[in-house]
Amino acid sequence: MMNPDLQDKLFERFPWAEAKDPNTGKGLGYLTPCWCGDGWFQLIWNMFEEIENVYKAKEVPIDVVIWEIKEKYASMQTVLCKGVAGIHDVTEKYERLSEEVCESCGSQGRVRDMFGWLTVYCDTCFETESAKKPKFRYFDANGNLL
Ligand SMILES: [Zn+2]
Repeated sequence: MMNPDLQDKLFERFPWAEAKDPNTGKGLGYLTPCWCGDGWFQLIWNMFEEIENVYKAKEVPIDVVIWEIKEKYASMQTVLCKGVAGIHDVTEKYERLSEEVCESCGSQGRVRDMFGWLTVYCDTCFETESAKKPKFRYFDANGNLL
């Protein structure tokens, strides 16, 4: 989950990206959930600006509803419940762009295989994360981690 301070920043600038109750459509008072690392903050910011521009160009009020933004197969997926034509082009563009942005720090990165889990990391974050997670785990006869 993205750092709450960063989520607040996005919510302050883009109040229309509020999480909505799925049944009533009522705003919940916080940003739609961003299930990704802090490194994608700028990507989301830019994507929201472009979404706004789609509406500006059409001269209609923003009525997009984003269900969630998440990392899946090492790219940023934006799940929409509602939005005008043209929004999907924007979210697909950012899905592609995210494959080269480190999810942890936002630097230029590439897709890495983290012990069977695909994530985008720059060289530095890849080294840090690789060192953190042991490649193999050993257990004693009682199932305790050694
Ligand atoms: Zn990084």
